[in-house]
Amino acid sequence: MSGKKDYYEILGVPRNATKEEIKAAYRRLALQYHPDRNKSPDAEEKFKEISEAYAVLSDDEKRAQYDQFGHMGIGSRYTAEDIFRNVDFESIFRDLGFGFGFDDLFSRFFGGRRTYEEERGKDISIPLTITLEEAAFGASKEVQVPRTERCSSCNGSGAKRGTSPTICPQCQGRGQVQYIRTMGFTQIITTTTCSACGGRGSIIQHPCPACKGSGLVEVFRRVRVDVPPGVDEGFSLRLRGEGDIHPHTKKAGDLYLTIHIAPHKYFKRDGDDLIFEAQISFPQAALGSEIAIPTLNGHTWLKIPPGTQSGTVIRLKGKGMPKVRNRFSRGDLLVKVNVKVPTKLTERQKTLLKEFEKELGG
Ligand SMILES: [Zn+2]
Ligand SMILES: [Zn+2]
Repeated sequence: MSGKKDYYEILGVPRNATKEEIKAAYRRLALQYHPDRNKSPDAEEKFKEISEAYAVLSDDEKRAQYDQFGHMGIGSRYTAEDIFRNVDFESIFRDLGFGFGFDDLFSRFFGGRRTYEEERGKDISIPLTITLEEAAFGASKEVQVPRTERCSSCNGSGAKRGTSPTICPQCQGRGQVQYIRTMGFTQIITTTTCSACGGRGSIIQHPCPACKGSGLVEVFRRVRVDVPPGVDEGFSLRLRGEGDIHPHTKKAGDLYLTIHIAPHKYFKRDGDDLIFEAQISFPQAALGSEIAIPTLNGHTWLKIPPGTQSGTVIRLKGKGMPKVRNRFSRGDLLVKVNVKVPTKLTERQKTLLKEFEKELGG
């Protein structure tokens, strides 16, 4: 993933390009690289690249995620299939006069056909609070997730152990019933969910005591999650299949974790930079000195030049947060120097300061 090119560069558009500009750029490049037209060996790879860039940048949510967190933001949240879902490739290719649509495109890129998923359980969204250090260096965290799961006593059937559900007599197991009404010469057929079995197609005579016949139970699960280094407030991590279980299909939804970063004892964060306020004495400011500054992983020494004014900001290169777009480079640590004015003075200190004042005036 690290060697991946920037999506805006791939399409040759500025970062503030409008949707229309992005679409126009993709159409232009698709004409050039579409495998129906361009038979050179690199064309297919190039075509895949522009299609992926277009899929992300043409979708508001994916584009926002990419703008904020780069390729990692996309990779942590979307599968290849998600990236290409709901993109208007069909209409673009039809306009351009090409033969194949999304499914062909997908199987060409990823091998195998796209599967149409069965209905899945609900997605779960929970916050995850981490420390600034964990955000900087990454962490393995355990989260407690409440979710709906298949009941293990009845294996999800809802029927008491040793019994089994019987086929619903009203719908004969179809889960739906048809009503035929006649209005004049027309017959109107309506299909509705079977009221006797609620659409399950089966009737439970002896409900499972553990789940009261629903086949589902509420459980707390411990889920381990790896937080990648460099994440910021609001970063979203997706864990496939850790959401609720669907009552009929038994397929799980996904779990989304939204990152919150706890306030830090020393640092404020400004994007990739960290801000630290250092207090120094008037003699340290006037004469210059060397002071210890906390960093994310220990401390460092900072030279205060003689004659430093209160409010001066000194930049320590590369001591900030790792950059989410390029984890091998880091932001800076900005040290704001505040000069303390002493409030309680001894007689001797007063005498010395008065002498000093006289010296200034002379
Ligand atoms: Zn049960
Ligand atoms: Zn029924």
